[in-house]
Amino acid sequence: MPAHTLLVVVAHPDDESFGCGALIAGEAARGVDVVVASASRGELGEDASGLHPSPAMLGAAREVEMRRAARVLGASRVEILGLGDSGWDGAAPSGSIVAEPERLHMELTRLLEAHRPDVVVTMDPSGSDGHRDHAAVAEATTAVFGDRVDWPAALYHWCMPHSIMDDWLREIAAAQPDSVYAGTDMGRPDDHITTIVDGTGVAERVWRAIAEHATQDSPFEAISAELAHRFVAVDHLVRIHPAWPGGPHERALSYPSP
Ligand SMILES: [Zn+2]
Repeated sequence: MPAHTLLVVVAHPDDESFGCGALIAGEAARGVDVVVASASRGELGEDASGLHPSPAMLGAAREVEMRRAARVLGASRVEILGLGDSGWDGAAPSGSIVAEPERLHMELTRLLEAHRPDVVVTMDPSGSDGHRDHAAVAEATTAVFGDRVDWPAALYHWCMPHSIMDDWLREIAAAQPDSVYAGTDMGRPDDHITTIVDGTGVAERVWRAIAEHATQDSPFEAISAELAHRFVAVDHLVRIHPAWPGGPHERALSYPSP
């Protein structure tokens, strides 16, 4: 029987490793063919290395980093959809994810039809992790899945649970003198989560993939090892299709039966 295919759709290089790296590595380790797609090259991110003076140079470097990280995680293929990074705020640049919804829709349609994945994982359309490109890519992927997927397949949103986001911001505040933590509404409400996948067995691979993103500051350096492990080694998802019937969390992705 041919291997199942998992398609992971993110907005920028590093989202795949900092976000759902353990999921990619875990599925690849058990023989799933994993394709990772990024809508952009992330050229408007900060350049922690200071080595890339223009957005185009940073984007080219980040694409290389993503390809290396995906190889470390065991993905078979990386697709860059070629839209621009919209940046955190302000007017979205022409050609960017936020400015070009029709082109994004078209590229995602091509991607899904080319790979006919059994499972699609994208980001959180509620924008609970803070970047507008993440929400736009998740929304568009969900729409294209609904319109175009006429084969047996499942769709998930990879989410940052509120409880972990809250612990993260609390730790960061505690490390800063004079900072008083007033709570956050960021993160997906914990009771939305349907699926929790423990990737402790592949965590070491995820740390190596994160290290490939040399232009990016790791968000995990400022927090405790215990909290970093919860971020990096455990993936939280909301199953969108097939509809979640309720009950205890599932502990693995639901691949359609042959
Ligand atoms: Zn991102």
